[in-house]
Amino acid sequence: MTIDLEALYLDLHQHPELSFQETRTAGIAAQHLRDLGLEVEEGVGLTGIVAVLRNDDGPVVWVRADMDALPVEELTGLPYASTAQGVDRAGKTVPVMHACGHDMHVTAMIGAVEKLVGERAEWSGTLVVLIQPAEEYGAGARAMLNDGILDRYPKPDVVLGQHVTPLAAGTIGVRTGTQMAASDGLTVTLHGRGGHGSRPHSTIDPIVMAAATIMRLQTIPSREVDPQGVGVVTVGSIHAGLKNNIIPAEATLELSLRYPDEQSRQKVLASVERIIRAEATASGAEREPEIRTDHTLPPTINDEEATARVTSALKRALGDDAVIDPGMFTGSEDVSWFARDAGAPLVFWFWGGVDPARFAEASAAGRVAQDIPTNHSPFFAPEIHPTIDVGVTALSSAAREFLD
Ligand code: ZN
Ligand code: ZN
Repeated sequence: MTIDLEALYLDLHQHPELSFQETRTAGIAAQHLRDLGLEVEEGVGLTGIVAVLRNDDGPVVWVRADMDALPVEELTGLPYASTAQGVDRAGKTVPVMHACGHDMHVTAMIGAVEKLVGERAEWSGTLVVLIQPAEEYGAGARAMLNDGILDRYPKPDVVLGQHVTPLAAGTIGVRTGTQMAASDGLTVTLHGRGGHGSRPHSTIDPIVMAAATIMRLQTIPSREVDPQGVGVVTVGSIHAGLKNNIIPAEATLELSLRYPDEQSRQKVLASVERIIRAEATASGAEREPEIRTDHTLPPTINDEEATARVTSALKRALGDDAVIDPGMFTGSEDVSWFARDAGAPLVFWFWGGVDPARFAEASAAGRVAQDIPTNHSPFFAPEIHPTIDVGVTALSSAAREFLD
């Protein structure tokens, strides 16, 4: 039996599902894993899957993929572009797209498991496959762990995972130490006093308060974080008001913060809070702003020894030149909760999905950031080939490094 991975990818791409709603995706993945002879449990951490392949004595390797999509309207113009819609947490109907490539992750995972099943005479140990929900909320890994997977399944000797990214297809980016940033997601409510748009002096305008706050927050990365370091403060959502002649009573901001370590995290969080409260005071607010933490993600730290082994396995499988150190990414992941809770080493790498000629051209022109759509862009579109194959080879070779 050979699984048609391209067909699987196209199907998943055209049927993206929002976080914690991935029931169709999970059903398809579970069926493939069952067909391949694995013991499969569905509904783990709401919509996740755990599948086990026991193949004699030996190490336990956890391989993880995520499967949720994003509220983004796909603008790639591809014949297989998503036209799907979904209902988000707030009950709003939104367009849905696999703008982070998690459809590619599930496809490569199924391909890698198929390969490992075919090669089972050559290795021994236990492969535990995790297909997790809601990575985009930073909540899916935690949900699976809270469901007790560490008690019910063999504990890992190593946790492996991969993410498709805007590198040239065929290239793998991996580094020892901090591979991805830590992150916090905050919701901030600024309280003003509502009133008539013609009588601003009788109100406390939360929109002006929000505008001043947003601009001032930008001085954290530019004026407070060491220029040699990394700090990101993004306000990704702002909501206030319903009509031009009504000054609303409140404004809501959603922040995404990124840093490489706990020390920078404490410093940036303190600055964010100081500025929010000070701008509210500057506006004459009568009520303190509310600052709520929606999620906290640790930095993704690759274990030194395990990463050295994976790096050499990837070089053997894909060629010496195919593996590069991409530097630390300011994106964040919840994959490391699996390794942290289990006390096991983690190796998490990136694999490229961009047409190599196009990537080389953008690179030569110094225009990678402008010309190559990144994850979460409505134009994000990994090349199907060779990206699927490279993802399959990378994941299966890395697993074999520990199982052989
Ligand atoms: Zn993402
Ligand atoms: Zn992602």
